[in-house]
Amino acid sequence: MSAHPDPSTAPLSPQARIWRDRADAWVAEGRIDGRAFIGGQRVAAESGETFDCISPIDGRTLATVARGRLADVDAAVASARAAFDDGRWAHQAPAARKRVLQRFAELLVQHKDELALLETLDMGKPIQYALSVDVPLAARCINWFGEAIDKVYDEIAPTGRESLALVQREPVGVVGAIVPWNYPMLMAAWKLGPALACGNSVVLKPSEKSPLTALRLAELAIQAGLPEGVFNVVPGYGAEAGEALALHMDVDALGFTGSTRTGRQMLAYAAQSNLKRVYNELGGKSAFVVFDDADSLIRAAETAAGCLFFNQGESCNAPSRLLLQDSIADEVVAHLQTLLPRYQPGDPLDPSTVMGALVDGQQMNNVLGYIEKGRAQGAQCLGGGRQALAHTGGCYVEPTLFDQVTPGMTIEQEEIFGPVLSVIRFKDEAEAIRIANGTPYGLQASVWSGQLDRAHRVARALRAGTVHVNQYDEDDITVPFGGYKQSGNGRDKSLHALEKYTELKTTWIRINPA
Ligand code: NAD
Repeated sequence: MSAHPDPSTAPLSPQARIWRDRADAWVAEGRIDGRAFIGGQRVAAESGETFDCISPIDGRTLATVARGRLADVDAAVASARAAFDDGRWAHQAPAARKRVLQRFAELLVQHKDELALLETLDMGKPIQYALSVDVPLAARCINWFGEAIDKVYDEIAPTGRESLALVQREPVGVVGAIVPWNYPMLMAAWKLGPALACGNSVVLKPSEKSPLTALRLAELAIQAGLPEGVFNVVPGYGAEAGEALALHMDVDALGFTGSTRTGRQMLAYAAQSNLKRVYNELGGKSAFVVFDDADSLIRAAETAAGCLFFNQGESCNAPSRLLLQDSIADEVVAHLQTLLPRYQPGDPLDPSTVMGALVDGQQMNNVLGYIEKGRAQGAQCLGGGRQALAHTGGCYVEPTLFDQVTPGMTIEQEEIFGPVLSVIRFKDEAEAIRIANGTPYGLQASVWSGQLDRAHRVARALRAGTVHVNQYDEDDITVPFGGYKQSGNGRDKSLHALEKYTELKTTWIRINPA
């Protein structure tokens, strides 16, 4: 495969030089603050412990981060509870909360370069996407929920004349939010937007692999006018800070995004503690089904590759299973092979790079392990399949294409969460539906066909929270995002997200006849 500019040896482009110089200065001057954010202030972990935040771009230490544990989670929840109980945020009029969230979103946009650079350094995604996707979508999410909240009405039930039944939504109280590392800021925004708009207080636990932007968001929220204590961030490990938050008796609801394995754990924590509401947004193994009557096989191949390799394949909704009807499979596979050089990994700080580093060595080894398993089980690796740019000290994997993947193989069933595309061939519509639905997941799917009947029929048959027809990359804050089956039970985004962060209260009022 042709080589892409090598982060360690290629001359830096002038734009890459600007980003790298800025990053070097931040690290050299120790400007990246990894302390927790509790009660409106930066604080060290109560134990004084820290862990190193290591960049997957080149293995360097970016900052030390507070290692939150039970004591820190207790302090954050107490701060959130006090803020909720005295109504400093929850009792503000929706229009007032709207103005603060709008300012918060504006500050994200104003700090776009800083936030994008932190995100790229922390988890390895290309800077061009941190700038054009992560920051603007996080800002849009916060702004959209702020905008929406003073336009949402409660209900009066159609009861008899002798009474009045008000059905109202109230904030649940203290929301725990636990998020992953693949879109650190955006996943945090998907929880924060609706939770804060409804008047809740929030304790956010970012992934230990990508804590930096979450901590900065908390500072910007205060700057925007969010009262102290309403939004707290406790960085730390899942089994320490995460578990303490999920088990906490004073957390009313938990918004979780992460793996299905940890999501299962979240339900157990709720059962072991106060039966807090748990909303799980989990993994996926999405099927991208192309029939021989699709209008453009080239566009189908380019869309599948573009969406799978985006974010290094580390997207919950990545179309990792490409189902091709027998008669067109060879043609599509041949085109896919020509696309692989386009996604060769490069320096994430170079604005021309389209595929960056995986989040860390552990994730890189997971992905390489799956590639080995694919080969061992008889799938045919047609391109990629190896670690790349190893001498940089970073964590890069080549874009990888497998053909002759069959239902039941490990790489067909399990979420790889890396740049690995598996082609599975099928005979007819019934077989395609059976294979597409044949994993424990049900996050997204796509059907490509020029026949209206078939497109609708298959879309109905696919067990997934979102089905795309003749495209894959459409997305908007106005539509819900979430999965069927073991991909979760919650829905982020859209007005439906408000349901997760509110209690429904009925108030009956007697009206005596005159
Ligand atoms: P993960 O489950 O390992 O970790 C997610 C979060 O949970 C992290 O903050 C982690 O520290 C915490 N955690 C881990 N173990 C814990 C425990 N025992 N108790 C409490 N907290 C714990 O997932 P990940 O590797 O960070 O993220 C990748 C996963 O996230 C993939 O499966 C991906 O599909 C999924 N994801 C889903 C969506 C969605 O909207 N459905 C979006 C993005 C990512």
